Amino acid sequence: MSPRTCARCLYTEAHPLHLVLDSEFVCSGCRVHEEKDSIDWSERWRRLESLVGEFRTRVSGHYDCIVPVSGARDSHFIVHVVKHRLGLNPLLVSYNRHYNTDLGIRNLANLRMAFDVDLLENTVQPQSAKAVTRAALQAIGSMHWHTLAGQTAWPVQVAVRMGIPLIVWGVHQGVDQVGMYSHFDEIEMSRRYRKEHDLMGWEIDDLAAADPRLDALNLSPWRYPDAGDIARIGIRGIYLSNYLRWDTKAQHESMIETYGYETRAASRTFDAYNDVDCHHYSGIHDVIRFRKHGYAKVLDHACREIRLRRMTREAGAALVAEHMNRPAPDGALLAEWLGMDLPDILGSADAHRNPAAYSGGVPIQPQPPGKDAVEAARLPQVEPDCSFRITPTRAPGQRDDAYVLIGKGWFDPEDTQ
Ligand SMILES: [Zn+2]
Repeated sequence: MSPRTCARCLYTEAHPLHLVLDSEFVCSGCRVHEEKDSIDWSERWRRLESLVGEFRTRVSGHYDCIVPVSGARDSHFIVHVVKHRLGLNPLLVSYNRHYNTDLGIRNLANLRMAFDVDLLENTVQPQSAKAVTRAALQAIGSMHWHTLAGQTAWPVQVAVRMGIPLIVWGVHQGVDQVGMYSHFDEIEMSRRYRKEHDLMGWEIDDLAAADPRLDALNLSPWRYPDAGDIARIGIRGIYLSNYLRWDTKAQHESMIETYGYETRAASRTFDAYNDVDCHHYSGIHDVIRFRKHGYAKVLDHACREIRLRRMTREAGAALVAEHMNRPAPDGALLAEWLGMDLPDILGSADAHRNPAAYSGGVPIQPQPPGKDAVEAARLPQVEPDCSFRITPTRAPGQRDDAYVLIGKGWFDPEDTQ
């Protein structure tokens, strides 16, 4: 039977993170999202203050927590909350994804300077990152696996090495997107969720077992630390989205105003804020996602804005239809980096099609909801405008059509320090 579609948002039962529909044909993601409008957020904030209070060192020069960051994805907002609202002294950590845009490098530099914080970045050897990516493409059809594995392992590795027990993340996808957990579960970082969902069931040692070409490489950047070390230091990873009413669009706009966060238009979605640091996330990576799971990132963005009452279901559907088949001009860049042909990269995705979304190589058409169910599930609009701001670039004339592996980012010419 073909998957049913939620009567409120646009997700179907074929979602790779497994959402379910209730008797009113509304999905678990929409139901958990409703909690955002009923939770006593000031009480949640006090819980957060109390929780982080246990980790405050009050020792000059010591870090209170680790904050994983990038040149996008609410990094400015998370650091703003941690440093200025919670009054903690964070150590920022970043796993270098290699696919960096120049704009992303500038945002990362801006983050460091605007908040006057230390940043520990892990840039793995490019040949290893390429080999792992080629192996992940073959094994699971993912060009993004090395980034997902690295950015979820590096903060925990630093926590172990430096003895810093608290890691502060932003949003938990399982809560915010599909309602796998409630906000009240106060879900924390775990090895199991990372493997099953972030890493699609594959640890680095699983990849190495499947691909002997990885044998000679140092694979430690992608390996989660030992359970014994994590327990000895008492490492916990918490998500701010359990304690703050998470609204990434409003958060980014506040960061544009306050700290000069830079944005840019994406090739295959209307969200110009979340993935500006990566050449591929909204490009060829999104094409691969579509060929595997039958949906594009623009669907996530439309569902999010429908739930936040800034977009009607119909407007969201129109935006998805407009963006989901757009070309990804960055494919050649990835093919060159990997030393592969683009058709072979796309063939890897096709070899791993989600059986819930494809049948015989053809996308399964989901069942649309009934008109009555849609009207019954409809949320009133609170904001008529859902436009995303494109900020003026700080580097006019820059081509930004190649990876910037390591860059100094942007510095104010007036700033002589
Ligand atoms: Zn829904």
